[in-house]
Amino acid sequence: MRGAVIHAPGDVRFETLDDPKILHPTDAIIRTAVTCVCGSDLWPYRGAEPIGDPHPMGHEYVGFVEEVGSEVTSVRPGQFVVGSFATSDNTCANCRNGFPSNCLHREFMSTCQAEYVRIPHAQGTLVATDGVPDEKFWPGLLAVSDVLGTGWWAADAAEVGPGSTAVVVGDGAVGLCGVIAAKERGAERIIAMSRHESRQNLALAFGATDVVTERGEEGVARIKELTGGIGADSVLECVGTAEAMRQALHAARPGGSVGFVGVPHDVAVDGQELFFSHVGLRGGPAPVRRYLPDLIDRVLAGRIDPGKVFDLTLPLERVAEGYRAMDERRAIKALLTP
Ligand SMILES: [Zn+2]
Repeated sequence: MRGAVIHAPGDVRFETLDDPKILHPTDAIIRTAVTCVCGSDLWPYRGAEPIGDPHPMGHEYVGFVEEVGSEVTSVRPGQFVVGSFATSDNTCANCRNGFPSNCLHREFMSTCQAEYVRIPHAQGTLVATDGVPDEKFWPGLLAVSDVLGTGWWAADAAEVGPGSTAVVVGDGAVGLCGVIAAKERGAERIIAMSRHESRQNLALAFGATDVVTERGEEGVARIKELTGGIGADSVLECVGTAEAMRQALHAARPGGSVGFVGVPHDVAVDGQELFFSHVGLRGGPAPVRRYLPDLIDRVLAGRIDPGKVFDLTLPLERVAEGYRAMDERRAIKALLTP
């Protein structure tokens, strides 16, 4: 089969690889329906994370089950499945407590920009749809598996509820999906922080009520102006930089909450400041598996269309172009079709 391999910063190639095989009785092999490039794939692509030896890339997938190991009974060959970027057995204590992305048997997926993928712990990780969904839903279901699940977690962790005011820091695919999540969870006012017109428009289409273009302390001042001088009930931090985290913590009202889902790079939180702010803080890799059945239903019912975050579609063999377009911010998110 063929798939993406990163060799060095800026150097992603489409190469022939060994076909994945069932290694454990709990594995499944899927044939990729669609996959994509993630904002977090850009960290190694930009040289902000070490690469080491050349290795496959990608952690987002929806596809068709090809083969299952002897212990997998929940899905069968031919079914269309959605799964998380973090595998989970769905039975351990952490899974039962609602944190499958901290499963005691967790593995992070890392070979999904390819024609076929091995899924460890398939029984707990994969969710099959009823029948094969129409192709128009595939991008939305792919978004569910990572960016929407993560935006949903940001809103959940930030305790967005009916009638609340939510601020979304970050206008990448996760931030835009955070707007969808805040709207679905009943936020009355959703303030998107964005400087890019196309992304502002998508945020507004997804349910944002206000757009703030200022950043840093100016952005915080603008949020305060819009929230009676005190700040927002909920803030979704969907970037992962020190500036974004500071902005998020300062934009929340006393007693409000920040959900942080951008993978932190050089982020430090001031304990004194957090103590006196009364702001709640929770984040981490999204427990996507917990949300999958609900989010799949919302997509297939046509309630939400998170697939709109894909503004570039390429054949999988042109995966390198997808990285380039996202790196140069010409695309929000690149969809790849095998
Ligand atoms: Zn588990």
